[in-house]
Amino acid sequence: MLKLKNVSKFYYNKGMIATGFTKINLELKMGEFIAITGESGSGKSTLLNVISGLDSYEEGEMYINGKETSHYTEKDFEEYRRKYIANIFQSFNLINSYTVYQNVELVLLLNGYKKRQVKKKILEIIDQVGLTKFKNTKVSKLSGGQKQRVAIARAMVKDTPIIVADEPTGNLDTESAKEVIEILKRVAKNKLVVLVTHNIEQIEEYATRIIKMHDGRIIENTQIKEVKEEPKVEESKYNKITIFNKYRLGIRNTFNILTKFLLLFAVFFFITASIFLEYGSFKLSEYMNSEHIYDENRILIKKQDKTAFNQEDYEKIKNISNVDYIVEDDLIIDKHIAADRQIGSRDMMAIGGYISNIKNFSGNLDIGRMPERENEIVIEIGREHYYVTNRLNELVNQTFTMWTNDYYRVEEQQEVAVVGIKYTEDKNKIYVHNSILEKMKISIHKGYCDTKVLFNNKYINAEICPSDKVEKGQAIVNDELRYQIENRTIKNKPINIKISNIYYSDELNLKISDTFTEENYVDIVGNKNANYYAYKDMIFINREEYNAIYDKPLYQSSVYVKDIEEIDTTLKELENIGIKAKKITDYKTEYESDKLYRQILKIIKLIVTIILTFVLFFISYFIIRIILKSRNIYYTTLRILGATYKSVKRILDIELFVNSSLAYIGVIIPIILSKMDIINLGYISRAVRYVSIKECILMYLILIVMSRLISRKFTKKLFKNTTINTYNEEV
Ligand code: ADP
Ligand code: MG
Repeated sequence: MLKLKNVSKFYYNKGMIATGFTKINLELKMGEFIAITGESGSGKSTLLNVISGLDSYEEGEMYINGKETSHYTEKDFEEYRRKYIANIFQSFNLINSYTVYQNVELVLLLNGYKKRQVKKKILEIIDQVGLTKFKNTKVSKLSGGQKQRVAIARAMVKDTPIIVADEPTGNLDTESAKEVIEILKRVAKNKLVVLVTHNIEQIEEYATRIIKMHDGRIIENTQIKEVKEEPKVEESKYNKITIFNKYRLGIRNTFNILTKFLLLFAVFFFITASIFLEYGSFKLSEYMNSEHIYDENRILIKKQDKTAFNQEDYEKIKNISNVDYIVEDDLIIDKHIAADRQIGSRDMMAIGGYISNIKNFSGNLDIGRMPERENEIVIEIGREHYYVTNRLNELVNQTFTMWTNDYYRVEEQQEVAVVGIKYTEDKNKIYVHNSILEKMKISIHKGYCDTKVLFNNKYINAEICPSDKVEKGQAIVNDELRYQIENRTIKNKPINIKISNIYYSDELNLKISDTFTEENYVDIVGNKNANYYAYKDMIFINREEYNAIYDKPLYQSSVYVKDIEEIDTTLKELENIGIKAKKITDYKTEYESDKLYRQILKIIKLIVTIILTFVLFFISYFIIRIILKSRNIYYTTLRILGATYKSVKRILDIELFVNSSLAYIGVIIPIILSKMDIINLGYISRAVRYVSIKECILMYLILIVMSRLISRKFTKKLFKNTTINTYNEEV
């Protein structure tokens, strides 16, 4: 059956050469029961490993069934092991976390048997080694003798022609050792058994031949019993492991050691949660900076002949079927308005948003009612906004001061009361009555205009403000301006005011009629609470003139369409009636810097996410490797039992897949719950809110790919070396 001709085995270790054994000549026949003895280090184990195909040899020839093996690849030896060899070790080499039954079953599952076919056979064999009572006991709970009996059962179950046992009784007491040897003898019938032992008396009555080794050589080779006739070699059958069995083992391994399961779970949970949180934070900041993202259904319109719009134009536009409504004075839409509410002497609440006519409000209110009076407003605000979650009763039915350019300027202030709230995922909005919109219009327009004041041949830092106390053609200025003039007489001096924006410009030539100081400005402003510093650089002019300069005919309006899909057709129809029309989404100029900022943020987000994923991958690889290190013996055992690289990888893949999927579910459940507003995790809930379903799926895929890479890396390392070297490194 086996023949060794001048076979030698050397170990190369850091430049040193050690001899395993030298020039061994040996022939082993079926039906023999061979006992090998010799002192420690004489090369017994090495010989057994070479015979079993677990280790390579360097010199000589080894024949298996008459075939020379020097050209054998690792794969050929794998097949040889699966067909011919069953190993039994001194240290049992069982899977401690499996039951007796599972240990015996494992070898069959790995060799392509179906679970149901093999049940009877396994139970029979467990009975033969006298362990029926313990069949569902975890191996770790058994005594040494019982463990070795499990190992024998495992060696028996596949019915290979050769059994190789390396000091199987070395760790056992005399009584158990005797039992084990007896069972082995029973099993040995018609097989070739090669057994290493120190206790030759124990084995003498069974052995057919005794071999003694010394210093890597055979020094004695004594036949003590005749082997009558050599039985035929019957190769053990095997198939490739079935996919089903890979899954069975993978899933069994996921849960069979609780601590390992929890540790891996924690690692995967940590990876997933960090990627989610990092990505979510970026999405949140992107959202926070996206206040200028426009309504997609808005079209900006101007007249092709550059004149102002009149009612006739608006009627024509309204007749276009896809037009939902027109906002004539559309500068208002883009103005972010603030509304403040002073609470006590220290606390202040501020709501801000884009202002819109209450007529344009659509949908249902979540809280409160629609406005009934002029100064009542409705707001759209995030459901998770701090004011909504914590200070709702200070928000609804309370009075706020709405303002445009400067909070301290009375003429720009407007008292309003919030009566209704609609939750939004979008930008905040404030819906006001038409009359309030009209009142705010002038100060909003003023905000869009560039105002230049020419005094004493110099442009001075000043703004204009309406006053009922100033006559037409006149202006009242700060008394300090007098110091810019040589003889300090400022009265009747001319002052020129130019205003301009992209559509029109205008100009006022006034004469200074009076000056104001910190003591008397209140008389002119007409409000006792007015803050002097907000008016210090003001030039007060006649209210009618003030209104006329800012309340110009409309050169630009906005059209909102019903169906965004049809927006291009609407653009054409507008062009046909003499109107220059452009989708708001096509406008770049004004918010170019914003766009750039968003783009940069996006790129940073991508880079950080990729780096984080890599860093997490390596951190988790090292942690998982440490966790799995305790499992190296398990995987080497699989290899000894005939598992290939592919199946080991697959089994590990499945284990990590199941574990990481569970961790993912563990992360995604709170995310979904917080998205559905069932739980609130504060910042975390806010951050993950903007992660889309698609991105959730993408992250799952990343996690799965990561877990597969980890299992690949790990298995590769495991198979880098010969089986026995890998095993020795781990024990
Ligand atoms: P035995 O089983 O008879 O105690 P071994 O077969 O284990 O002896 O060892 C035989 C010789 O080979 C010893 O000198 C030992 O030091 C050497 N040896 C065994 N394994 C290795 C190894 N992995 N690397 C280097 N030397 C080894
Ligand atoms: Mg040994």
